[in-house]
Amino acid sequence: MSAPVVMKFGGSSVATAERLRHVAELVRAQGSPEILVVLSALGGVTDALFACGRLAATREQAASLTQLKELMERHRDVGRELFGPNLPRKVEAFIDASEKELSEILCGASLLGALPERSLDLLVGRGELLSSLLLAAYLEVPWIDARVVLRTDSHFGQARPLPDEIRSLALRELLPKIEAGGICVTQGYIGADASGAPTTLGRGGSDFSASLLGAALRAAEIQIWTDVEGVLTCDPRIVPEARPVEQLGYDEAAELAAFGAKVLHPATILPAVELDIPVTVRNSLLPDGRYTVISRSGASGRPVTALASRGPVSVLTVKSARMLGGSGFLARIFEVFGRQGVSVDLVSTSEVSVSITVEANAPLEDLARELSAFAEVRVERERAVVALVGEQLRRTAGVAGMAFGALRDLNVEMISMGANEINLSLVVRREDAPEALRRLHRAFFGPESGLNSKRGAA
Ligand code: ADP
Ligand code: ASP
Ligand code: MG
Repeated sequence: MSAPVVMKFGGSSVATAERLRHVAELVRAQGSPEILVVLSALGGVTDALFACGRLAATREQAASLTQLKELMERHRDVGRELFGPNLPRKVEAFIDASEKELSEILCGASLLGALPERSLDLLVGRGELLSSLLLAAYLEVPWIDARVVLRTDSHFGQARPLPDEIRSLALRELLPKIEAGGICVTQGYIGADASGAPTTLGRGGSDFSASLLGAALRAAEIQIWTDVEGVLTCDPRIVPEARPVEQLGYDEAAELAAFGAKVLHPATILPAVELDIPVTVRNSLLPDGRYTVISRSGASGRPVTALASRGPVSVLTVKSARMLGGSGFLARIFEVFGRQGVSVDLVSTSEVSVSITVEANAPLEDLARELSAFAEVRVERERAVVALVGEQLRRTAGVAGMAFGALRDLNVEMISMGANEINLSLVVRREDAPEALRRLHRAFFGPESGLNSKRGAA
C-alpha cells in the first residue's frame, strides 16, 4: 500500500458547478494512486445555514424556511449543471431529505425561539455533506460520511477531535475503501460524538479535518487547496502586494495561523507535526503556480517570514505599587483569569504593571471587578494584535527597531515576544491595524527592505 494523499478544497474552490468540475479534474490529475478528498461546503453555504438558524431562533420562521429552500435549490442547480436535468437518485434523495430534516429543525427553533447547539451543528454541517455528495457522484467514487470517522467530544460548535479513536476508525472505515477505490470523497468541518450526534470543529475547520484525517491515514502529503498561491507574506485583502512564501516550518505556520492568517485554521498543523507529514497550500485556480510547503525542515530562515493580525481583542492593564519587589502578585492576577475561565493571550509586564490581552467576548466587567479588589485596572477595547513571524526573528538584531520605525506615529500600546521567540506581537488600536500591516509589509518585504532581501525572499 502506498501512503494516500489528502486533498482539501475550501469553499472558495467549490462555489459553482464549473469550479466543482475543475476540482474533479485536479483530483483526477493528481497522479497519486490513493486520494482522500476533503471538501468544504459550497462557497457561502455555511454562512447561509447560520443565517437560517439565526432567523429561526428569532422566530422568523417564514424567512428562515425561504432561505433554506433557496439554498437547497442552489444545490439542485449545481447538480443539474453537473449531471443534466436528471440528478443521480442518491443526490436528489439526499437534497430532498436534507430540506425536510432541516425545515423541521428550523420550525422547532422558531416555536421555541431558540436553536439548541446540538441542532445548530446538525444544521450548519449540512453544507459539507451536500457539496461532497455532488462531487463524489460526479467523480463516481465512494462518498464517505466523515461522522463515521471523525470522532469528537460533545463540545458542539467547537468540538475537540479524539485522535486515537479517529485513527482506529480511519483504519477500519476509511482506508480499505481508499485502497479499494483509489479515490474517496469526504467532508471537512464535521464529525460526531460517541453517541453519534453530529458536531462541528468551528469555523474554517475543514483544514483541521484534512490534517486530522491525513495524520490518521499516515498520509504522504496534506494538500490545502484554496484561492491564493499558498501562504502569503500578509493577508492580500489588506496588502494586495503580499507574495507567496515558498516554505515554512511547522512552528512558523502554526504561529501565523494562530495570529489570524485565515488561509489555515489555527489547529491545522498540529496533527501533521508529530508524524512529519508535509502540508502544502495551493491555489486551485492556478494549480501549476507557486505554492507553500510547510514541513519540519522547511523553516524559512528569515527574520520575518510573514505578518498576520487578529482582533478585536481587549487589553487589561493591572497596576499596583505592591508589584514592585513583591512576590505572588502575578499569581493572584492569573488566578482571577483562571477562575473566570478566561484564557490569557499576550502578557507584558513592567515593574509595577502587567498588561494582558483577552478575546473581545471575555467577561471584562467581572475580571475588572475582581482585579480592582487589589490593584488598579484599566480596560481598553477595540484593539488588534499585529504579529511578525519568522524563524530567525530571535537571532536578528533590530527587528523591533525596524518595526517601530515603520509604524512611526501609529501608537503601539503593548509589545510581546512569543515564548518560542519566532513571533513579535504588537497591540494597536483596531482601526490602525490595516495601516500598521501595510507599513510593516513595506518595511520588511518592500523593494527597499534590507532585512529580508538579504536572505532572498520568494
Ligand atoms: P478556503 O475557502 O479555501 O478555506 P479561506 O477563505 O478560508 O479559503 O482562506 C483563504 C483566504 O485567506 C485567502 O483568500 C486570503 O484572503 C486569506 N488570507 C489571510 N491571510 C493570508 C495569508 N497570510 N496568506 C494567504 N491568504 C491569506
Ligand atoms: N464550511 C465551513 C466554514 O465555512 C468549514 C470550512 O470551510 O473550513 O466555516
Ligand atoms: Mg478556510
